[in-house]
Amino acid sequence: MSAQWNDPIGGFHPVSGPDYLRVEQLRKLQLGRLQSVVRRAYSNVERGLKPQAVRALDDLGQLPFTVKNDLRDTYPYGLFASPMSEIVRLHASSGTTGKPIVVAYTREDIDVWSSVMLRTFTACGLHQGDIIQNAYGYGLFTGGLGAHYGAEALGATVIPMSGGNTDRQIMVLKDFGVTAICCTPSYFLHILDRAAEMGVNFRELPLRAGIFGAEPWTEQMRRRIETETRIKAYDIYGLSEIIGPGVASECECQAGLHVFEDHFYPEIIDPETRAPLPIGVEGELVLTTLSKKAMPIVRYRTRDISAIEPEPCECGRTIRRIKRIGRRSDDMFIIRGVNVFPSQIEAALLAVEGTLPHYQIVLTRERDLDQMEVQVEVTPEVFSDKIRALEGLHAKISHAVENLLGIRASVRLVEPHTIQRSEGKAQRVIDRRNLK
Ligand SMILES: [Zn+2]
Repeated sequence: MSAQWNDPIGGFHPVSGPDYLRVEQLRKLQLGRLQSVVRRAYSNVERGLKPQAVRALDDLGQLPFTVKNDLRDTYPYGLFASPMSEIVRLHASSGTTGKPIVVAYTREDIDVWSSVMLRTFTACGLHQGDIIQNAYGYGLFTGGLGAHYGAEALGATVIPMSGGNTDRQIMVLKDFGVTAICCTPSYFLHILDRAAEMGVNFRELPLRAGIFGAEPWTEQMRRRIETETRIKAYDIYGLSEIIGPGVASECECQAGLHVFEDHFYPEIIDPETRAPLPIGVEGELVLTTLSKKAMPIVRYRTRDISAIEPEPCECGRTIRRIKRIGRRSDDMFIIRGVNVFPSQIEAALLAVEGTLPHYQIVLTRERDLDQMEVQVEVTPEVFSDKIRALEGLHAKISHAVENLLGIRASVRLVEPHTIQRSEGKAQRVIDRRNLK
């Protein structure tokens, strides 16, 4: 391994080479891989794919989509394209309803996964010598081991904390000289709150980067984290159905996420008509794996809303960027005919002084009319302040939410630490409308 990539200024790890391929060369590589993945998926799992139909990358648009139910219906091993003897690892998604989705990896798949996570860390400015605290959950969830292998491949020092045990996380952050942390953004906020109570000042720690993913979060939340801690908060993206974390990552420009498109081919479609959308137009992200062996997936509908950025990135990477994912079509709820995404509420709340980014939306139905209550934690200072300050804040938030959505929502200000914290993905919406 050469030494110069270890130079944080301008150097990069050799594994990041594909990030900078000439575009024509990249497209040629993608087409070759696409043809072989379609052949593989066709001969092994017979889902009506016609390999001879793919002569150019655009022909991808003719192939059928894969949706979450296709993966559920074939539980547990139905979509595997490799014999079990070649499968070295299984993971599973935590299904909120029914059976999980099982995903498989060959030895080669694990190597690809490690390499794309290595490229993720490199894009986020990490290198050999960094001490990375990995607080993504280890286990069936892909977050923990995905980040772990990538960080080790990078040559960084990995601390395999997994999620939970917040006091211990803070002790390690402080005592082990940690320079980067991996977790969900909502869990990091929880760590920050607890650290403040314990008298730990993040600005005095060597921590300089947060590698945050596994849930949608807003630009406002990023600014809040960066101002409070002086770390750089990076957004990374991935999903178990495709590989786990490592599908796309921000670079130092923090202006969209580079898709590691030599392995994962992105398209944006209209979620209603399912027609492919042009570059720059927002729609649902669809991904095709180009090199997966154990479980090749063609045109997976992610339900994540994004767009492909039309301009090249200032960092010099030629792999395309997708807009950060602030919302999932799955998370959308409809209240009194209005489509609402939790991220819209989050952005409105973060624009109001005196609130913490801990919130929950509770939906109920009273006399056939949908009601929405937004519960927001206020800062300890505001909470201990006079009633008048609370009333003013209440009015401001109600106004901000109504302004944004055009409907009235009841707002409830709650004491700090009232809303249940999650060590993984935050639960933003509690829908009690169909309980009766
Ligand atoms: Zn870039």
